[in-house]
Amino acid sequence: MNILVINCGSSSLKYQVIDSESEEVLAKGLCERIGLDGRLVYQKAGGEKEVTDADMPSHKQAIQMVLDALVNPNTGVFKSLSEIGAVGHRIVHGGERFAASTILDDEVLKAIEECSDLAPLHNPANLIGVRACQELMPNVPMVGVFDTAFHQTMPEEAYLYGIDYDYYEKYKVRRYGFHGTSHSYVSKRAAEILGKPYGELKTIVCHLGNGASICAVKNGKSVDTSMGLTPLEGLIMGTRSGDIDPGAMEYLAKKENLDLEGVMNILNKKSGVQGLSHISSDFRDLEAAAAKGDPAGPRALNAFIYRAAKYVGAYAAAMNGVDVICFTAGVGENGPDTRKGICDYLGFLGVVIDDEANKVRGDEKVISTPDSKVTVLCLPTNEELAIARETVALAGGK
Ligand code: AMP
Repeated sequence: MNILVINCGSSSLKYQVIDSESEEVLAKGLCERIGLDGRLVYQKAGGEKEVTDADMPSHKQAIQMVLDALVNPNTGVFKSLSEIGAVGHRIVHGGERFAASTILDDEVLKAIEECSDLAPLHNPANLIGVRACQELMPNVPMVGVFDTAFHQTMPEEAYLYGIDYDYYEKYKVRRYGFHGTSHSYVSKRAAEILGKPYGELKTIVCHLGNGASICAVKNGKSVDTSMGLTPLEGLIMGTRSGDIDPGAMEYLAKKENLDLEGVMNILNKKSGVQGLSHISSDFRDLEAAAAKGDPAGPRALNAFIYRAAKYVGAYAAAMNGVDVICFTAGVGENGPDTRKGICDYLGFLGVVIDDEANKVRGDEKVISTPDSKVTVLCLPTNEELAIARETVALAGGK
């Protein structure tokens, strides 16, 4: 079955077409600047990237352009759209309602809408993508795959915050966690690579990208993760602060004469390694600055590494041990120095990195030595493939 995977944001939309039997990517790309001027990037497997500037006033037009590209007689991959068997949509927040992927019907869409308060930037955009696809492909099954679903197995002690329990009961204020599709894919793949039963491993997945989170996966279930009610908690990220004393928010608001929105804007967009370095949110720029002797580079990198290492230590405690540590996403897959920096803190767990193997970028590889007590892996994530697998399982194809 051919699966169209859609990841729809407020002004952009990423897509991939995956043949679920061979798991090959047939075509992929993105629509950018939706609602502004519009640009379609389209790439057929083995082909050149094509960039077309075109009016895209709405998501419906953007998806129409993607569908047109897929059936274009010269560069397309299908003769007709009937070759698309199902569409898998990434949905950011499923609240407590969705512990697994689901077929998107009217009732489910309403429930996702009800979670929008928890992810006001993401869920409405995701829903716009679903509705546009439903209009253009009314007879094709649509499946929602939630970033939060994998973490719904967390025990109460991990997901409750230390605040009045009424706020949990009334408003569902709790830890949800994100990047679940990635944490699930990577932890399963690690078990496959090591030839060990998924249900018997204690794995820590470090998803280190522009957004970053760490997850403790015990016997195939997420038992804790660093992001919380929103994707702001936890690690220091590209531009997000991660953990911070809530008291600092009031202090900053007073000092800078800001309202809550202004403080949140600082914590979401002007913090993280960008805010710490005043150089960039991109780790490559920070490493380049460090190589030139600019102390702002290491200042940000060291804080990022230290915070990540503390979470790995905490999750080893939460699981009473760890068998496997996986590094994934942009920095995790491509940043040997960051991986090494984090692992250097973990000698007490018996982690020993093989410096030669750790030079890997973007490939699956064991980067620990044979006598390391914990196996450490560089393991590229593949959220689109994970979404396609979930979609085909629910849409009932092959
Ligand atoms: P992601 O959000 O997973 O796409 O990750 C994006 C981040 O990965 C970028 O901001 C970079 O900081 C980082 N990254 C990508 N390639 C490299 C690389 N070769 N070396 C270090 N960091 C990288």
